[in-house]
Amino acid sequence: MTWFPAEQRYDGMEFRRCGHSGLWLPPVSLGLWHNFGGTDVFETGRAVIRRAFDRGVTHFDLANNYGPPHGSAEENFGTILKKDFAYHRDELIISSKAGWNMWSGPYGSGGSRKHILASAEQSLRRMGVDYVDIFYSHRPTPDVPLEETVSALAQLVRQGKALYIGISSYSPDRTRQTAELLKAEGVPLLIHQPSYSLLNRWIEVSLLETLEELGVGCIAFSPLAQGLLTSKYLDGMPAASRAAAGTSFANTMLNDENLRHVRALNDIAAARGQTLAQMAIAWVLRIPGITSALIGARNVQQLDNSLDALKNTSFTPDELNKIDHHARD
Ligand code: NDP
Repeated sequence: MTWFPAEQRYDGMEFRRCGHSGLWLPPVSLGLWHNFGGTDVFETGRAVIRRAFDRGVTHFDLANNYGPPHGSAEENFGTILKKDFAYHRDELIISSKAGWNMWSGPYGSGGSRKHILASAEQSLRRMGVDYVDIFYSHRPTPDVPLEETVSALAQLVRQGKALYIGISSYSPDRTRQTAELLKAEGVPLLIHQPSYSLLNRWIEVSLLETLEELGVGCIAFSPLAQGLLTSKYLDGMPAASRAAAGTSFANTMLNDENLRHVRALNDIAAARGQTLAQMAIAWVLRIPGITSALIGARNVQQLDNSLDALKNTSFTPDELNKIDHHARD
């Protein structure tokens, strides 16, 4: 049966400008790292993506190796695009990345021209699209000349295979160098994708300042610390959780000290009339330089809960002070 998205999908959604660019992103974007792979239930993922779009989320973030198996999130997303979004491609910002391990041998990862161009081509084919809106270098690769990585990224733009370029997890210095090299290629650096959450504040030291100075946007990944910044682990480890799956979630994160802080943060959130997930997302968005909080969701309920963060994104100085006592790396 044909699916039609909600007509009111953009009502009330306050898009944020990405750095000094002409691109606006939703304050919350959806990532497909987990829950959308070949081993997941296709219709659950499809329902999450439909719901996200119905609520004004226009940005979906992927990478070559999201799954498992590698590539399957892009394949599934491509199928969903074809089935449900055939008339809405131009309303979407789709991103992909290359850099982490994707295929065997010396060209299956990294920042070489060989890897980036081949991987981008594969991603386009898996998703069945002619171009992605944002293409990222997924990680810094110090063993590859930055000039080589940058020229491959710029080539994707010149070929029309990517509209904008991003980098992920680059240091402030490397970010600055990348922005300069890209500028020389005539391609602006659009966005940086770093990790950032109440329990991971590294970008506050100098990356945010660098991005502001360069006019580059910032999309913060894992704002819920992969689920730790929700109430789900306060009474043990639920079977349906990333920690129980034992994939990317390091169970050492569930130590007494972290849980003590999470419990305290949960109480502060409750006093604000929010779930901890909602407060964690709102807190990331308190910084004007953050363009978007890039979340994951295993089902529609989680997505709805997280998107309701946007109902209250302001904090009193007293709340921020209290949060600072528990928001630690
Ligand atoms: P989050 O920190 O938002 O964690 C998402 C997980 O938290 C969900 O899978 C779910 O875990 C739990 N969760 C989400 N919402 C709720 C809720 N409302 N209530 C209770 N639990 C909830 O983000 P991710 O770690 O998933 O990362 C988001 C995206 O960021 C990725 O999909 C990817 O696009 C990007 N990313 C980029 C990286 C990079 O190197 N550039 C690295 C990592 C991520 P559970 O399954 O336990 O229910």
